[in-house]
Amino acid sequence: MNDNMKLAELLFGDIDKTPEYYEELYPVRNLKEGARVTRFAPSPTGYLHIGGLFGALVDVLTAKATDGVSFLRIEDTDKKREIDDGVSAIITGMDSFGVEFTEGVTGFGTEKGDYGPYTQSQRVEIYKTVAKKLVQEGLAYPCFCTAEELSELRDTQEKEGALIRGYFGKWARCRDLSFEEQEAKIKAGVPYVLRFRSNGSDDKRIFFEDVIRGKIEMPENTIDEVLLKSDGIPTYHFAHVCDDHFMRTTHVIRGEEWISSVPKHIALFKACGFKIPKFAHTPQVMKIDEEDGTKRKLSKRKDPEAAVSYFVEEGFPKESLLEYLLTLLNSNFEDWRKANPAADIFSFPFNLKKMSSSGCLFDLVKLTDISKNVISVMDADTVYSLVKTWAEAYDSELYALLTKDEAYSKGIFSIDRGTAKPRKDIAKWSEVKEYCSYFFDETFTDKPELPENITKEMAKEVIEKYLTVYDSEDDKDTWFAKIKEICEPLGYTPNVKEYKKNPDAYKGHVGDVSTVIRLAVTGRRNTPDLHSIMSLLGKDRVIARLNSAAEAFSA
Ligand code: GLU
Repeated sequence: MNDNMKLAELLFGDIDKTPEYYEELYPVRNLKEGARVTRFAPSPTGYLHIGGLFGALVDVLTAKATDGVSFLRIEDTDKKREIDDGVSAIITGMDSFGVEFTEGVTGFGTEKGDYGPYTQSQRVEIYKTVAKKLVQEGLAYPCFCTAEELSELRDTQEKEGALIRGYFGKWARCRDLSFEEQEAKIKAGVPYVLRFRSNGSDDKRIFFEDVIRGKIEMPENTIDEVLLKSDGIPTYHFAHVCDDHFMRTTHVIRGEEWISSVPKHIALFKACGFKIPKFAHTPQVMKIDEEDGTKRKLSKRKDPEAAVSYFVEEGFPKESLLEYLLTLLNSNFEDWRKANPAADIFSFPFNLKKMSSSGCLFDLVKLTDISKNVISVMDADTVYSLVKTWAEAYDSELYALLTKDEAYSKGIFSIDRGTAKPRKDIAKWSEVKEYCSYFFDETFTDKPELPENITKEMAKEVIEKYLTVYDSEDDKDTWFAKIKEICEPLGYTPNVKEYKKNPDAYKGHVGDVSTVIRLAVTGRRNTPDLHSIMSLLGKDRVIARLNSAAEAFSA
């Protein structure tokens, strides 16, 4: 047995499998030509950032568009970042927005698919098996340097102005320890990490084709990167290489912060004898800072909208957020949507190559506009059921109001809906309470504020006159004819043009008369169709509100 073989046994005596075993266990996927295998690989921090949802959508859409596979892998090797059951925030976030993976983790402790386990902490044996092989081939070695020694090394490199910093070449003290030295330290229980033995050279370059960014050229990796930490847990780099190989990922789609690590990853794929997957580095989600107007990364600390849960709590329908994210993802999405207005968003023929490589701006105002459109074309039953579900979780008062009389509540959402030009009043469910407050006596506020051109006396006169003609059975035309009818006797004109020509001849026009009625009945100047509102409110409520307004204006 040569020294490498002896070292491999010393370090990994408990590992009896070989990489070949896993090659067979996880065979190359039998998919049609061009099918892509993608993965979403979050760390379970208990928080799902909007950038995470954005990335997951890219994974799922890429796989769907090519009849491929997408899976969810939990990267829980960084104990510092991990929180108890951090998986739930990810799963709940994905579920809330209808993002479904073909395989992978499905809940806390549950998963589906043949390429698992899909949680890194359960794959330690696989990493060790690959690491053992690297040690046998002289491509990895134990490093016993302490934290202090490594920090000294960094200081020295800084002082010397070394161009490349890190553990490599002459700095890599443990690289050339003899087997006897290694054995003595291990037997003495000295803690160690396992490092990659890089054979890269800084005068060589690597090239790779990023699917989003095109050709990228960088210096070759020379660093002896840590593969396994002292507790035997892999680093991100090593776990990524082993997992994406054995899970047969074809396209590693991840945030642009990983671009600089690609040379390391390529070196590791090669050392392990694995095929190098395609890489696609997605741009970051940015925003314009409200204070200084600069473009910056959406921050977990400063921006509530950085958390996916924010959109759930605010009651943005999932369709709205998805629709908006798709406009950020592919510039041709809006044209596709125009041509396919009713199509399921997940049938969009997403193309990674059409993604922009510069940071994409997350704009709440644009999301709000999109959401108003999305909600405006939903039918009343859908709106009712979505609002009800939201209110059940986030607004018990609204929930109680809406569920008291289901038909009445659906009536609210039917007004002006289903027409060629539906109103675009609601952007999120948290606005519904305010939107429909005047439909319920409990939330109606009868303190109508009159426009400047109408005095209390004028308003009182209008209401009293209107009460003499109001009939709850009137259809819309008759209803409006009656409003016009009372204009002239009160000194208003039913004809707006006429008023504009000759304003001094009248107290106002038909618009002013209906404003007074609208204010009395709803407490607002602006509402959807007033005739529909009055029909829904019903005779008794309308008369009561007209009377109480007349009284209020007498004061
Ligand atoms: N676990 C990594 C992260 O959360 C994912 C990077 C990747 O997708 O490979 O940043």
